[in-house]
Amino acid sequence: MRDDTFVTLPDGERIARLGQGTWEMGERPERRAAEIDALRAGIELGMTVIDTAEMYGEGATETLLGEALAGLRDQVFLVSKVYPHNASRRGVVASCEASLRRLETDRLDLYLLHWRGGIAFEETVEGFEALRRDGKIRHWGVSNLDVDDMEELVDAGGQACATNQIFYNVARRGPEFDLLPWMAARGMPAMAYSPIDHMRLPKRSVLDDIARERGLSAVQVALAWVLAQPQVCAIPKAGSVEHVRANREALDVVLSTQELAAIDEAFKPPRKKVPLEML
Ligand code: NAP
Repeated sequence: MRDDTFVTLPDGERIARLGQGTWEMGERPERRAAEIDALRAGIELGMTVIDTAEMYGEGATETLLGEALAGLRDQVFLVSKVYPHNASRRGVVASCEASLRRLETDRLDLYLLHWRGGIAFEETVEGFEALRRDGKIRHWGVSNLDVDDMEELVDAGGQACATNQIFYNVARRGPEFDLLPWMAARGMPAMAYSPIDHMRLPKRSVLDDIARERGLSAVQVALAWVLAQPQVCAIPKAGSVEHVRANREALDVVLSTQELAAIDEAFKPPRKKVPLEML
């Protein structure tokens, strides 16, 4: 069992290193019960950071999550995101209030700008800060922002940004060149979305070799790799209890120096700037 099963936000609050995503949940009635069971099982296993967005299912995912969280809200670090086109000073507040209603809660632990749109950062930050003063959100952050955007955000009054949720996994290592160091220098953890690459990892790779030797799946090895990165929280989406349990097992996998070197050989770290990818 590892002793670093958390990452630390800039204000010192610790959140689970392994959480759960929800994209594509709540959209298929026949999967609803399994998705709720999966989310609840994950919470019981300590995967308490739960990520959603007003965009997912145009609210249907938040509604499902609200149902899944009945009686469990206080155990969870709940994250949602505002559409860029709603991220004006007033729009942020209206979107957040709608999310709170669907999620059947009175506050979000973290509220993110989903990606950069046409509205000035100053306005979005003002909206976030107003929500924070009102106790409707506890922290705010961003998603899909590269270093230049992060610098602009800070210049626009966004020093309180708690995290940046980014596309990062063993096959998408670009942020290691500059974005992750930029964030680390500010005590800001990253939230890795699509940590198993939305199931698009190569069909045959060193991940399979390590998996076979260890009696794991390649997905578990890929997730263990993300979880081995300093100050990175991962939010895999799993639609079944079986997948949730497998993902939780990955948190206990400590990859050896040799295994990490073999992964570096196959999935090379960046040697120059790679613009931030977005799924
Ligand atoms: P992901 O977590 O990398 O992959 C999800 C896929 O992996 C699903 O098809 C899932 O299938 C499968 N899976 C999960 N655990 C598995 C296991 N142990 N064995 C085999 N298959 C497994 O991709 P993602 O959903 O794109 O990303 C995760 C979360 O990040 C999202 O749900 C969302 O909350 C967030 N996200 C944010 C952004 C953003 O712009 N900020 C973008 C993308 C995603 P089942 O459903 O059948 O279990």
